[in-house]
Amino acid sequence: MHELSLCEALISTVRRQLATRPEYAGRRIKSLKVTIGALSGCEPDLLARMFPHASPGTVAEGAELIVDFQSARVACEACGTERDVAANLLVCPKCGDQGVKLVAGDEVLLTGLTLAEA
Ligand SMILES: [Zn+2]
Repeated sequence: MHELSLCEALISTVRRQLATRPEYAGRRIKSLKVTIGALSGCEPDLLARMFPHASPGTVAEGAELIVDFQSARVACEACGTERDVAANLLVCPKCGDQGVKLVAGDEVLLTGLTLAEA
């Protein structure tokens, strides 16, 4: 995944969100919070490094990007265990069954937005 494009997409999402809230017009963004899954194809460190290159001249100029990492998490259909696992080992850590469902770890989510004081 291209982290710079992803930063631009995140900023674009924020801009669209803010446009629907006239009460926030002109407010600066202090920070953006994103959750990046281990299987998302996005490199969290690279995303954080690219953000300052994507934000100047946008609503997110000067904002801090806070990146939360989400491990791959599976739910076992055989024994019901739900647990974080290594991204390259999608089997149940308890019973070893391969019938697991990925419940987290493939996401790129915008989870928070803090505005500077007006
Ligand atoms: Zn199991």
